[in-house]
Amino acid sequence: MRYAERLNRLPPYLFAELDRKVEEKRRQGVDIISFGVGDPDMPTPEHIVRAACEAAGKPENHRYPSYEGKLSYRQAVAERFERDFGVKLDPEREVIALIGSKEGVHNIHFAFVDPGDVVLCPCPAYPVYRTGTLFAGGVPEILPLRAERGFLPDLWEVPEKRLRRARMLWINYPNNPTAAVAELDFYREVVDFAEEHGLIVCSDEAYASIAFDGYRVRSFLEAEGAMEVGVVINSLSKTYSMTGWRIAYACGSEEVIEGLKKVKTNVDSGASGIIQDAAIAALTGPQDCVREAVAEYQRRRDALVEGLRRLGFSVDKPKATFYLWLRVPGGDSMAFAERLLEVGVVVTPGVGFGEHGEGYVRFALTQPVERIREAVERMEEAGLAE
Ligand SMILES: *Cc1c(COP(=O)(O)O)cnc(C)c1O
Repeated sequence: MRYAERLNRLPPYLFAELDRKVEEKRRQGVDIISFGVGDPDMPTPEHIVRAACEAAGKPENHRYPSYEGKLSYRQAVAERFERDFGVKLDPEREVIALIGSKEGVHNIHFAFVDPGDVVLCPCPAYPVYRTGTLFAGGVPEILPLRAERGFLPDLWEVPEKRLRRARMLWINYPNNPTAAVAELDFYREVVDFAEEHGLIVCSDEAYASIAFDGYRVRSFLEAEGAMEVGVVINSLSKTYSMTGWRIAYACGSEEVIEGLKKVKTNVDSGASGIIQDAAIAALTGPQDCVREAVAEYQRRRDALVEGLRRLGFSVDKPKATFYLWLRVPGGDSMAFAERLLEVGVVVTPGVGFGEHGEGYVRFALTQPVERIREAVERMEEAGLAE
């Protein structure tokens, strides 16, 4: 079968061999403890599920939804955004519903990237920034995220020549996979940089609600001038353990939202009204469920950090996200992941998030504390200490 060139241009899938070995272990009956996927293990809070059940009975939700999302959903987004970040949004023009943020991350390239245009993509990163760029015929320009800069990109090191055709810049804090956070001064620098080079900024803030020890996450849209140069893409997936529901939103620059809407009008028919009603219940209802989930992730983070430190690894406690980004002895992330798999522990090799992720593995805190302790014990027994 001859595939289109755009499929051939995609980066190779690096984990086929590792996946095969995990599967083999499972078949042998090994008790696998997986920190592999960033998918909350806790169920969606009950009041949200109930709202969906009720919404399913409403005939208006049985018909095609609107492209941009119900006004009531966009109002709920605007209210939550103002409460969380103090940023006022016009729900009619500055908010659009997405069928999960992956959809929006992918589609936004088609609104602004012509073949040959450059998109500035961080690395290591969520792979969809780069693949979305490639699908649209764009050219990813890699911004390395390095530990010594707190995993923030050095915007000023991008060659001038590459910036001439640059259209978009992706940022993602709190960050997957490094768990790094960004402060307002970084976002101000991003606005300056975007204004100077005529870039659209897309800030993926999927982990904005998952922060520890009272740390307050800032949004890109809090920076002065941000509303004119870009959008935030945020999702209910991680905040409310709703990855299976597929509901998210983009908000910010009216013109950018308009461009995204034009693409989506021609690609999909909007998020289901049932799911939007459930999302409204999530955004406007009590937020105890979020606090409880975050407290649980914090206990897990503490258990894992404590365990790894006992084994001699030097790790900082992440301020946000449900990930831990561990520098591995020897620097070969795939080899380290394979050694962990020997004792039934699954992690994601950093190289899967791009070449600058090499030297690290990512733990997703999607296992309860007892399983984390068990994993650390197995590592200890296997002599996997630093
Ligand atoms: C999980 C995740 C998302 C959310 O994806 P959805 O499509 O909304 O489920 C977006 N960006 C990053 C960086 C993520 O890790």
